[in-house]
Amino acid sequence: MNQRVSQFMATIKAKNPGENEYHQAVQEVAESLIPFIEENPKYKQAKILERIAEPERTIIFRVPWLDDKGEIQINRGFRIEMNSAIGPYKGGLRFHPTVNLGILKFLAFEQVFKNSLTTLPMGGGKGGSDFDPKGKSDNEVMRFCQSFMTELYRHIGADTDVPAGDIGVGGREIGYLFGQYKRLKNEFTGVLTGKGIEWGGSLIRPEATGYGATYFAEEMLSTRGDGIKGKTVCISGSGNVAQYAAEKVTQLGGKVVTMSDSDGFIYDTEGIDSGKLNFVMELKNVKRGRIKEYTTKYKAEYHEGKRPWGIKCDIAMPNATQNEIDAADAKTLVKNGCICVSEGANMPSTPEAVEVFLNAKILYGPGKAANAGGVATSGLEMTQNSMRLPWSREEVDERLHIIMQNIHKTCVRYGTGKDGYINYVNGANIGGFVKVANAMLAQGLV
Ligand code: NDP
Repeated sequence: MNQRVSQFMATIKAKNPGENEYHQAVQEVAESLIPFIEENPKYKQAKILERIAEPERTIIFRVPWLDDKGEIQINRGFRIEMNSAIGPYKGGLRFHPTVNLGILKFLAFEQVFKNSLTTLPMGGGKGGSDFDPKGKSDNEVMRFCQSFMTELYRHIGADTDVPAGDIGVGGREIGYLFGQYKRLKNEFTGVLTGKGIEWGGSLIRPEATGYGATYFAEEMLSTRGDGIKGKTVCISGSGNVAQYAAEKVTQLGGKVVTMSDSDGFIYDTEGIDSGKLNFVMELKNVKRGRIKEYTTKYKAEYHEGKRPWGIKCDIAMPNATQNEIDAADAKTLVKNGCICVSEGANMPSTPEAVEVFLNAKILYGPGKAANAGGVATSGLEMTQNSMRLPWSREEVDERLHIIMQNIHKTCVRYGTGKDGYINYVNGANIGGFVKVANAMLAQGLV
């Protein structure tokens, strides 16, 4: 590690003890940015990187709620308002038992660069709770969401901070959260994105992250005169991002052979076609079942407690969670002929795994670029809410597609090395940084 990076990281670690995922996310960005900042002293003198790594505001609150047995439960709620230099804070809410301050700070930090890359006017934030919606009744989820919003509402607003979904927060949860916000504030505004289509949501928002990560893969492949058609694709996860990545890959002529959840993965050598994907969607979104139930209906292998990276594929799309591909998985993927990794999830590859991909010079699209289609379409939802005019499915999809192509162009501009290899990590970090940094310089010491 370069000496400036290690000095910078020593300060970050001392100030944010025990927040390992946060250290990981900041270090990855610092490694790209510090050499760039050395060449551009205006950012160094203004200590832009040091300022970006300190959240503008961190809110932590108690969330008490009553379960179906009448017993009191207490969870912890968070909202990290990371950076508002280029627009209102924007980023999802995650409900998962692993949620803690370090994980949300890593997500909020990444969000700042990602949102900037989209070219839309959105700052960065993230929030959530250690609440686990799995196994809870709809009424329990509703009571939790109402209690969570009873505190959160005072910190957010259509021009201040606009949360969305993430792991464990889908259409059902956004509905309960929005209902409570409206009741408390007595106003109908675009304070959350991912809303239902009848009450202010945007067409294509549910599909956007998975579609966007697939469009990004297609763009990366096109730099080598290639495409998704005819390729075998391993997908992890079976939630929102995974489902729509699988749908778009299939539409573009690829064959998806794996999907997973936190218990294991299924491997269908024939491919998870649109009929089979409908079954997965019903299983996950309505019945809230486990992925292994796929094998009760279709011929497939089920691998308990395993991740899908040992399966031979041309393209890997990690769409579940952080650090789900380690160095050994990355080596296996490369050895088996994988030529492209497009990350639907946030930071799914460990730093050692990323090194394997970059050393092998395969096409590697980091989450902050590849999965930016979700928040970009949230930005389009905000625009439609402000105009009070909904756009058609085709219009939103077209805009999403163009945004992903532009993000790809930005990565190529800032990430192409002397040998012609496109380092999308550098491209996304530097490309995302410049706009935020210039706005911070213009706005004085904020
Ligand atoms: P969902 O809750 O809809 O789905 C998450 C999927 O990942 C589920 O299949 C879940 O399995 C699996 N999963 C979650 N945690 C773990 C874990 N610790 N180990 C193994 N599998 C796990 O979430 P999303 O699809 O919305 O999000 C997936 C990823 O994409 C996250 O990294 C998120 O931050 C990122 N992302 C999401 C965006 C969005 O628009 N939704 C936008 C940009 C990024 P199980 O059901 O067993 O929990």
